[in-house]
Amino acid sequence: MPTPQYCRLDRDLSSCLFCDAKGLSRHFAHTILGKYPASYELCDTCHSLQISKVAWLEESYSPLGFHADTGSVQRSIACALFLRAMSRTGLLPRHASVLDFGAGSGLLVRLLRDFGLDAHGYDRYTRPLDCEGFITERLDRIAPHSLNLITIIEVLEHLPEPLETLQSLAPLLTTGGKILLRSEWFDDRKHGPDWEYITPEHGQHINFPSLLGMRRLACRLGFTGVPLPFGFFLFQQPDQGRPFFRSHALRLAAGWAIGHARAVGLCNFKHAMRDKHQQVDAHPQD
Ligand SMILES: [Zn+2]
Repeated sequence: MPTPQYCRLDRDLSSCLFCDAKGLSRHFAHTILGKYPASYELCDTCHSLQISKVAWLEESYSPLGFHADTGSVQRSIACALFLRAMSRTGLLPRHASVLDFGAGSGLLVRLLRDFGLDAHGYDRYTRPLDCEGFITERLDRIAPHSLNLITIIEVLEHLPEPLETLQSLAPLLTTGGKILLRSEWFDDRKHGPDWEYITPEHGQHINFPSLLGMRRLACRLGFTGVPLPFGFFLFQQPDQGRPFFRSHALRLAAGWAIGHARAVGLCNFKHAMRDKHQQVDAHPQD
């Protein structure tokens, strides 16, 4: 696995990454990779969580800190079924042009292409071999206003500069184009220092937006933020209205597809999560 070369390897936050408010206060602390102290800062305004200084990032992506993403295959299948449901319920054109940003293995792109979408994958740090032939090597070679949808699946929590990254992607969207994000959304009433998504064992997760934080981030980019079923979040143009009825249809269509996949043993994360914990146990911290 290549070592990522970030545009910035550290940061020192003076305001919230998501809503830009100044009030950040320490919520709890962890030790990353067994040796780096990390302060998890809670925004007083939108209640998003974020780590201010992230000096360990390069090491966390190195072979030494490497942990395989054991849930990536089932997640790609579930995401592909969700996007297919978006297409079937009118939230996405049938043959939409889609860029998967942070494509990883490229499996999601391959599945989307198998559903008839014109999907391509981009990943700055690894080659998405599963979608070989449909890899976008450079973002600056994508024509402006050419994409119906950009997917950012389990990537936002890794980005040192989420606002700047999204600002660089937004001009690639067609009029009416959308950004679909998927992460685990932070809720300070439910999630504490032992929240599984914090993952101090590798330190790659550095941003934990709340749903309010995501709405504020969408506004800063000129979008309206709409939470969708199954943990997805949509950035859409403000003049497209809130897709209440389509959201309901989407919940039914995606629920039907994912439910049937589960019936034949797919979209089930139980064994992947078991392997994740076994993997952590196999790499004890010094
Ligand atoms: Zn905030």
